[in-house]
Amino acid sequence: MQCIFCNIVNKDIPVEFIYENESVVAFYDIHPKAPVHILILPREHIVSVNDLKEEHAPVITALMLAVSAVAEKIGVKDKGYKLAFNVGKGGGQVIDHIHMHLLAWPAGNDVESKKEVFHL
Ligand code: AMP
Repeated sequence: MQCIFCNIVNKDIPVEFIYENESVVAFYDIHPKAPVHILILPREHIVSVNDLKEEHAPVITALMLAVSAVAEKIGVKDKGYKLAFNVGKGGGQVIDHIHMHLLAWPAGNDVESKKEVFHL
C-alpha cells in the first residue's frame, strides 16, 4: 500500500518526530498553515474518522492523550491551540491516513493565519 504517512511512520521517509510512543507519532507539517503546525497520527493505518470502529478505541484514546504531551513539548500547552481533523475529500483531507492537526499562534493573534485554518 502506498501511504506517505505509513512511510513516515516506518521511517522509509526520514522525518523528525517531535513526539512518539508505541501507538502515535507527531511531526511538523511540511506546509504549515500557522506558526506552529503539527500532525499527530496513529502508527496504524486508518483512513479517516469515518473508518473508526470500536476496535480502534485504544489507539484513538492514545492519540488524544498524546496531544497535551506534544503541546507541552513545544511550549503551547498553557497558551492554547487548535485541533482539527479533515474528513474525506469534501472536508479537505488529502492524505488518507487519519491525522490530527495541532495549530498554535504562540507569538500573538495572527488573524490572517487563523483564517487559513479553515482551508487546511
Ligand atoms: P490533510 O489535508 O488533512 O490530509 O492534511 C495533510 C497534511 O499533510 C497537509 O497539511 C500537508 O502539508 C502535510 N504533509 C504532506 N506531506 C508531508 C510530509 N512529508 N511531511 C510533513 N507533512 C506533510
